[in-house]
Amino acid sequence: MILPGSTIGVLGSGQLGRMLALAARRSGYNIHVFSPEANSPTGQVANREFVAAYDDLDAVRQFAQSVDVVTYEFENVPLATAEACAAIVPLRPGAQALRVAQNRLREKTFFANNGLPTVPFAEVHSLADLRAGLMEIGCPAVLKTAVSGYDGKGQIKINHPDEAAEAWQSVGEVDCILEGWIEFEREVSMVAARDVNGRIAHYNLIENAHHNHILDVSVAPANVPPQVLAQAEAMVQTVLTALDVVGVLCVEFFLCEDGQLLLNEIAPRPHNSGHLTIEACVTSQFEQQLRTVCGLPVGDTTYLRSAAMANLLGDLWDFQRKGAKGQKEQRKKSARNLRQSAKSADKSPDWTAVLTDPHLKLHLYGKKSARPGRKMGHLTALADSVTEAEKIVRGARGRLVIE
Ligand code: AMP
Repeated sequence: MILPGSTIGVLGSGQLGRMLALAARRSGYNIHVFSPEANSPTGQVANREFVAAYDDLDAVRQFAQSVDVVTYEFENVPLATAEACAAIVPLRPGAQALRVAQNRLREKTFFANNGLPTVPFAEVHSLADLRAGLMEIGCPAVLKTAVSGYDGKGQIKINHPDEAAEAWQSVGEVDCILEGWIEFEREVSMVAARDVNGRIAHYNLIENAHHNHILDVSVAPANVPPQVLAQAEAMVQTVLTALDVVGVLCVEFFLCEDGQLLLNEIAPRPHNSGHLTIEACVTSQFEQQLRTVCGLPVGDTTYLRSAAMANLLGDLWDFQRKGAKGQKEQRKKSARNLRQSAKSADKSPDWTAVLTDPHLKLHLYGKKSARPGRKMGHLTALADSVTEAEKIVRGARGRLVIE
């Protein structure tokens, strides 16, 4: 067991690392973080920030030598970086979970090989593959790059086979997965943890609403029939066990009209949908990550109350600067112009609109610049029902955009 006073190493330095660091430091652990970014969201609350490229393996080894265990907070950390750490200290979850999660083709093949229901899919390495895949799967379908995609980046919906060439070009002619388009009823996720002794604890199903492919609002516990929850529990157990995970992992599902769950993707780390566990549960997903990577038993995941979480995206900062009309016009500009004009979008919303509400918890990630679509923070509210909690967070976020 790795006990307080020890040092946890984190690969990646975003908000997930930051919230892990806050949980760890509260319990007397030290945090060292490694990423190419200085004064990062995690670095700001860590004991030590290693700033170097992920492929600078000498720097990676120096970092690993300074800690007792290494974990990662995003799945696009190069495998070689994680493996260089694993040669020096325990890496939790291991390289296998990372390997599967960072490539959509490997991920969906892993589901299929383990009897886990998922969306119809085909491998695409050329335009000919894409055309063949569209014949097999039908339209609409969605073409996603096999690696490096997140929050809807690197994916394009195809409504007609004639769009194949354009879609193939737009994703950059790289290895892809083609998926059948699912008319799901709802999207749900299950955050779970597995300890060194193989004990599993989960946070029930969390219901997620997306906007522009980015998570917008989550509520928990999701209102689903007991057989849906049982289905999810069994599938999550299969994933955690097959990947021999020691740590936290989230499974995202599509819930279909007929009650069938399909696995969409996995993330071998705490997840945006689990942020509400900080206030809502006896043990948050970040404490759970800390406990499991330190070799401690999984903590109690009981919900104290129903909860809702609303993401705060960079668009809110931009809104303050430009106003509603300006923002609408700006949205119409090309992506490049949008990025350039957003560089100066650093005026924060007026937080009094949310901080004067006694039910709300405000989390800000310390990011230096706001960009449309960038996750800058979130709001959480607890209530007697998820409906009430959702009303509180949506209402509060709405107040931030009223000039
Ligand atoms: P992903 O990055 O794969 O999680 O995709 C982001 C979001 O796009 C998902 O949360 C869904 O809302 C939507 N999406 C992705 N794949 C599909 C699909 N095969 N069918 C329908 N919606 C999808």
